[in-house]
Amino acid sequence: MTTALVIAEHDHRSIRSATLNAITAARQAAGEVHVLVAGWQASDAARAAACIAGVSQVLHADALPFADGLAENLAAQVIAVAGAYSHLVFAATAAGKNLAPRVAALLDVAQVSDVIRVLSADTFERPIYAGNAIATVQALDAVRVLTVRGTAFEAAEAHGGAADIKTLAAVADAGLSSFVGREVTRSARPDLSTARIVVAGGRALGSAEKFNEVLSPLADKLGAALGASRAAVDAGYAPNDLQVGQTGKIVAPQLYVAAGISGAIQHLAGMKDSKVIVAINKDPEAPIFQIADYGLEADLFTAVPALCQAS
Ligand code: FAD
Repeated sequence: MTTALVIAEHDHRSIRSATLNAITAARQAAGEVHVLVAGWQASDAARAAACIAGVSQVLHADALPFADGLAENLAAQVIAVAGAYSHLVFAATAAGKNLAPRVAALLDVAQVSDVIRVLSADTFERPIYAGNAIATVQALDAVRVLTVRGTAFEAAEAHGGAADIKTLAAVADAGLSSFVGREVTRSARPDLSTARIVVAGGRALGSAEKFNEVLSPLADKLGAALGASRAAVDAGYAPNDLQVGQTGKIVAPQLYVAAGISGAIQHLAGMKDSKVIVAINKDPEAPIFQIADYGLEADLFTAVPALCQAS
């Protein structure tokens, strides 16, 4: 029987939600699913992983070199156990995209990136050309290294499992990198990648002040995350971690409100799987209207405050 190893993303206490989506993909690719929790004082995270439905074993490696998620050290730990697995599965997040290529290169196998559908143990679908075409890829290597697009797979149930936890000997510090510091954005708003509602703004907002002044009240009222087009990010209206699209985050919320965003394919690549799309744009020819469920041809500076008042 084939067994997949999902490399957990965690904060040493709990498992990040993207891992739950990766577990669902792993269950479709292999008969059995194990989860690796490599962390520092991460027993709580290992216990949380053991509770996830469909996981039959948790491998727990605990050591200081894993404290800050350095990809060089984590890759070495994955390689130490990789021989037992048919699939090594990572979430297609910034962390997963940092780690998976190292593992694939060290194993000298091809990586299949951004899997959106599992057709069989070795055949997968992935978007190409900013999502305008879907490639079917067969991986013939003995070990398949996959990154999984979270929005394409349901999250596995976080409770209901009762997996064994096996303690692993942690690998030594690879000595290739060291942790210097971290600047974390703290926000009371939901995380953009997993939010149920996203209010996003584009170049039309004109300044960082207007971006916040116009969009924040609506986001607050709806309990939404804020998002932005790349043009808005490049112009400094919104921070980089709000960017949605091909080179930003991929989101698929229940509701996506796009205000003053034209709908370039690179933006659509990050949000077109949203369940309901509302576009506010004063140009009736804006391409965003072609994929919007509801289109409001209006000036956003009057329409968004009016929407906010009405909601
Ligand atoms: P614009 O295209 O300038 O559109 C602004 C819109 O606002 C227009 O439709 C206009 O009619 C409307 N508008 C103006 N004033 C008002 C008003 N008062 N009220 C209502 N509407 C108004 N883009 C991304 O977003 N994410 C990515 O990840 C991304 N990756 C890229 C990767 C590559 C390799 C490349 C080449 C490009 C990428 N882009 C990405 C950029 C993308 O091509 C577009 O340039 C960008 O999405 C445009 O952003 P925008 O819609 O905010 O701006």
